[in-house]
Amino acid sequence: MKTDKFREIPTPFYYYDRELLEKTLTVIKEEMGKADNCHLHYAVKANTNADVLKVIAQYGFGADCVSGWEIESCVKAGFEPHKIVFAGVAKSDWEIQLALEVGIDHFNVESVQELEVIDEIAGRMGVEARVALRINPNVGAHTHANITTGLAENKFGIDIVDMVPTAREAMAMEHVRLVGLHFHIGSQITEMDDFEALAAKINELQDQLEAAGIGTLENINVGGGLGIDYYNPDENPIPDFANYFKTYREGLRLRKGQRLHFELGRAVVGQMGSLIAKVIYVKTNKIKKFAILDAGFTDLIRPALYGAYHKVENITSESGETDKYDVVGPICESTDVFVKDYELPTTKRGDYIAFRSAGAYGEIMASGYNCRPLPKGYLL
Ligand SMILES: *Cc1c(COP(=O)(O)O)cnc(C)c1O
Repeated sequence: MKTDKFREIPTPFYYYDRELLEKTLTVIKEEMGKADNCHLHYAVKANTNADVLKVIAQYGFGADCVSGWEIESCVKAGFEPHKIVFAGVAKSDWEIQLALEVGIDHFNVESVQELEVIDEIAGRMGVEARVALRINPNVGAHTHANITTGLAENKFGIDIVDMVPTAREAMAMEHVRLVGLHFHIGSQITEMDDFEALAAKINELQDQLEAAGIGTLENINVGGGLGIDYYNPDENPIPDFANYFKTYREGLRLRKGQRLHFELGRAVVGQMGSLIAKVIYVKTNKIKKFAILDAGFTDLIRPALYGAYHKVENITSESGETDKYDVVGPICESTDVFVKDYELPTTKRGDYIAFRSAGAYGEIMASGYNCRPLPKGYLL
């Protein structure tokens, strides 16, 4: 990583590698394009930096939003409204109204109550709302417990046993049109088995819908969740999209004319981002060396929130020696620790530190605790 590009920028900040983002988008286009019925709605919640959104919109991809504010950001960044879908376990009335005004493609609906509210608001506005049902497939993702979403114990989606009755209710509503099934089983999934299990479950559910006389729906949406290699960002800068898309192409029995939607977030933007920070002090006591940075969990919360790992690099040290450090932030909380006993080149005040693979769920999860300003992101 060349620091001359950003010596002038005050730390901490997010550095986004435009070249890697574009390479990633190109690979997705190629691999997904091997079947002509496939469409990507980038899961915007991973990173809504305006410049990043613009690039993704320019490649012709759609957006998966989980709030009205995200819909507004996407429209501003140039996403075509008919390529926007809207998910989320509880959408407020103003968000539903905004989505209908903007003319998004459809809502991913998570309860009968939500269907009723959408029907009523659409009726009042004199429009038809297209909806897909988010089904909780009770398929486990072998990932961190805080980021599994597809088990019956999770708050998301409609239970499998309620699928047919809910579909019937949707079909009976005057201002709602049922256009698909939606799934999302979790995040940072690296085993294709989990996606295979989801595909098999979807096949069963499609058979059930047909047997119940509901027929074939326009879209099947398998959500996102493909993970990235946090340990080897340089060796694996681009996730294995070939294998991922192939798993669904081969595992799903789609009906004639059916569209297949993907909602990847992390896999699109994770590897292109790094949080760049500066060492303020190196403090030593009897048992530890602490590299204390000007970035804390307010800037990158994943280690404190999920115990997540980010590769740490001292990108300016010229020392040939190494030492072990607890790399920590300046926030007044004991959990403000990025990593412990981590081997780095001998580190001193003023050195630049990069947290790699921080393009997803990094900048966007920042907070203003301790009156700290939010970090900015730069697409360079
Ligand atoms: C968060 C989310 C995604 C994206 O998940 P990634 O793990 O970042 O790919 C997709 N769909 C829905 C509904 C989500 O909530």
